[in-house]
Amino acid sequence: MLFLAGIFGLCIGSFLNVVIYRLPRGESIVTPRSRCPSCEHPIAWYDNIPLVSWLLLRGKCRHCSVKISFRYFLVELLAGVLSIATFFYFQDLVLYFAYFCFLIAPLLAVIFIDLDHRIIPDSISLPGIVAGVLVHYLTAFPGEGSGALVDSGVGILVGGGFLFLVAFAYEKLKKREGLGGGDVKLAAMLGAFFGWKQVLMILLISSVLGSVIGLVVVSLKKNWHYAIPFGPFLAAAATLQLFFGEPILYWYLSLFH
Ligand SMILES: [Zn+2]
Repeated sequence: MLFLAGIFGLCIGSFLNVVIYRLPRGESIVTPRSRCPSCEHPIAWYDNIPLVSWLLLRGKCRHCSVKISFRYFLVELLAGVLSIATFFYFQDLVLYFAYFCFLIAPLLAVIFIDLDHRIIPDSISLPGIVAGVLVHYLTAFPGEGSGALVDSGVGILVGGGFLFLVAFAYEKLKKREGLGGGDVKLAAMLGAFFGWKQVLMILLISSVLGSVIGLVVVSLKKNWHYAIPFGPFLAAAATLQLFFGEPILYWYLSLFH
């Protein structure tokens, strides 16, 4: 099953590469077939096998030899590994599908779209809010469905509301946009999936990650006004929370004892 989860993850990763490239450009993610962005030659199925084709072609287009970014390989690899991790963690086909297809895979797309374009598409975050409510409800223990619905609802308000207030305060103080509406909607999506307690943990983890990595990036760039997108940190924090939520919480609480 882990092997199959890996193969499925690689295929999803290949699809995510299409989503990451086309969605922010307003292109259809279904048609036409993938083409080389340089020579526009359609990519044959045997040159579109996750991980393998990139390695065999040594990261170059078969027809025009233009360099194909390592990013394509990385996204496929991440999707494959996270797919295996999700199945290993849940040991349940339904939970695996629900969390991998509707949470982990969309978050992976968000990370790279936000890094490239500084946007988080509504077409990911808004259906994500609905998916989050449904997954949280359907995966609740028997008899706890209504509690899960309330938890998701409060989670949306806490996650989205908290970032909205931060964005609002920042804009008032600094007279420029710090966090975007995309971050607010992504936090609302995470609130729907995780409920209000865990989304607070995600906000905490993402702020710590963002501060540490942000400081490293601005000092490397020697530019204190360099804008760093927050979406990747939210997405990474949510993934960490899913797999390591309890150990992280115990560690955090132990700091106060
Ligand atoms: Zn080409």
